[in-house]
Amino acid sequence: MTERNDRLAELRFETPLSLARGIGPARARELAAAGITTVGQLLCHLPHRWEDRRRVLTVRELAAPGAVALRGRLHDLKAVRVRRRGLSLVRGRFEDATGSLGVVWFNRPYLPGWVDGGGEYLLYGEVKAVSRERFELINPSCERAEEAVHGARVVPVYPKLGALGPALLRRIFAGLLPRVDFSSVPEPLPSDLLRRRDLPTLGEALARLHAPGEEVDFEALNERRDPGLVRLIFGELLELQLALARLREREIGALKGHAYRLDEQVRKAAREVLPFRLTQAQRRAAKEIVDDLLAPRPMLRLLQGDVGSGKTVVAALAIVVAVESGLQAAFMAPTELLAEQQFRTLERLLGRRYRVALLTGSADRSGAAEAAREALARGEIQVAVGTHALIEERVRFARLGLAVIDEQHRFGVVQRQLLEQKGDRPDLLVMTATPIPRSLALTVYGDLAPSVIDELPPGRLPIATRVVPAAKRREVYREVRAGLDLGERAYVVFPLIAESDLVEAEALTSLGEKVRAFLAPHAAALLHGQVPPAEREAALAAFARGDVSVLLATTVIEVGIDVPEATWMVIESAERFGLSQLHQLRGRVGRGSAASRCVALHGKLSAQARRRLDVFAGTTDGFAIAEADLDLRGPGDLLGTRQAGLPRLAVADLGADRSWLEAAREEAAHLVARWQDPDLAALRCRLEPGEPDWQGPFGGG
Ligand code: ADP
Ligand code: MG
Repeated sequence: MTERNDRLAELRFETPLSLARGIGPARARELAAAGITTVGQLLCHLPHRWEDRRRVLTVRELAAPGAVALRGRLHDLKAVRVRRRGLSLVRGRFEDATGSLGVVWFNRPYLPGWVDGGGEYLLYGEVKAVSRERFELINPSCERAEEAVHGARVVPVYPKLGALGPALLRRIFAGLLPRVDFSSVPEPLPSDLLRRRDLPTLGEALARLHAPGEEVDFEALNERRDPGLVRLIFGELLELQLALARLREREIGALKGHAYRLDEQVRKAAREVLPFRLTQAQRRAAKEIVDDLLAPRPMLRLLQGDVGSGKTVVAALAIVVAVESGLQAAFMAPTELLAEQQFRTLERLLGRRYRVALLTGSADRSGAAEAAREALARGEIQVAVGTHALIEERVRFARLGLAVIDEQHRFGVVQRQLLEQKGDRPDLLVMTATPIPRSLALTVYGDLAPSVIDELPPGRLPIATRVVPAAKRREVYREVRAGLDLGERAYVVFPLIAESDLVEAEALTSLGEKVRAFLAPHAAALLHGQVPPAEREAALAAFARGDVSVLLATTVIEVGIDVPEATWMVIESAERFGLSQLHQLRGRVGRGSAASRCVALHGKLSAQARRRLDVFAGTTDGFAIAEADLDLRGPGDLLGTRQAGLPRLAVADLGADRSWLEAAREEAAHLVARWQDPDLAALRCRLEPGEPDWQGPFGGG
């Protein structure tokens, strides 16, 4: 790079590119077409990786094929005739003080005219062995040594910007950077925060990411530990945490219009509803919830507990307090099957005292829902259980006091808000069994106060888990049959309903039928999303009663299904499922006091799938599973940001950068407490996804 000269640093962050010397009108138009019109916007187009090209070798040092940088003179460049259309070839000879080497370029017919024999050039490219002793340099980048931008340094690699590729962008930046006045980059973060966290300013961060200095720690750069990168990551995570904090402010900022009572009569009702003694953890959670209900501001609470920890009954207690206080309650579940089951549970617990109704798409088609909606609007129904059908426009509550959302991870913030809008600042309880590592929960549910049920109901035995190749399928089902002979009940789960040419996996309607025949005369029922609701309901009820002892199903049973007597879980083509999904499936058994088993049958395993199944067999701890899942698979769209209206992360990655989450959350709390509300969004560095060669922030490419 040319030396930085302060007299030249005339470009400010906000300077239009059309006024920047060195960027011609044609180039400025190309950049504008890609949405970039100012120096600042261009600076925010960041490299997605870096290559260490600092070491310049000599010809004599070449020992193995690979990418190298060389510095020396070029001779005898000649275009070579080739037969293939659309291909032109130039050959030449590279020479330094230690020796020489052949070079070949593709489709750069201008090179022989451009290169002059006297000057020194810097070449960067692959060397290939043409014989044991001889190497050839293939299609290297080629530039005058004294103004090299593609080699002899740590080189930024940029994602494409419209029609502009990485090499061209590198040249544009090389011309631009020495003229940029980086002190003109506005700094959205308070200076005491930067000092406290030992972070560079945004300007310093951008400068070092575009042009890492000679002494840069290259490993740190690619491992996301470089201070410049950390500054950007931290900024984004802070922005996210601030958005969550504001969401919380908005939701609980004002007083609620309804009130609860907790007198002896309410306590008595609660006691009568309970079918068993609560665990210590359940009692603690229930107390936290009731305290929130009695408080003057709306509750915004997350009830987290592994599968089978007993969240439903805790929600039922909150519902009792609401209804006894003259309020209505809503209970929303993500699938019809789950809504139907929770309806049955709540009906069983609360049905003798209150009117409980089910609102789902299918209930609607059966005609029952219209009457239920009217009774709800009049306040005659006190508890409404349902799916998304609950948040439809036409559903009205007379006085909604408490909204419960089961399996919150299946919903976005938007659905949550729609449900809240059914009342006047109702209290909100969201429940999830998807164990999210603590660090991440802070982000995904950062606006919610957490309650955790970290204890299973008494008498539960660990679920013995085995991973078994499909070749031993027969033995497994023989064991299952022996269990059924003793009166046990079993789930068998398939990844597909019907066989498919596209996916190699076992299917419910083919292998499932064979399993059914093998297990006969024990009665089996088939359950999947296309089974009509009435039949589905009947099958589940028959399984719950024990009239049917085998449920052959797809992952419709993944979430929340609760039949304590079921003790066998067989998962076919287990390699097809994600780790958290496997854990959810396993959670369908081990819900009673009898010992349960889970068998994961699998076909051919990739290395990834093998690791997944090893983790699965090795632990039943939901949080350990979640951490491992995050490492293996990344976080996906855990936030549901697309629908949630939360800022999208461009540089930060919730998986890889989760170690910064806690600090970002602390700082966000700090800022909110001081009523300092910097507009971080205005200055985010955007890496627009969807570019042709785009592989995700700092991944691949
Ligand atoms: P989850 O937290 O996965 O939603 P559920 O609420 O479905 O769990 O409860 C799992 C099972 O444990 C249910 O059959 C429920 O009746 C039972 N259960 C919950 N709490 C207790 C308890 N304190 N003692 C005994 N059984 C309980
Ligand atoms: Mg549940």
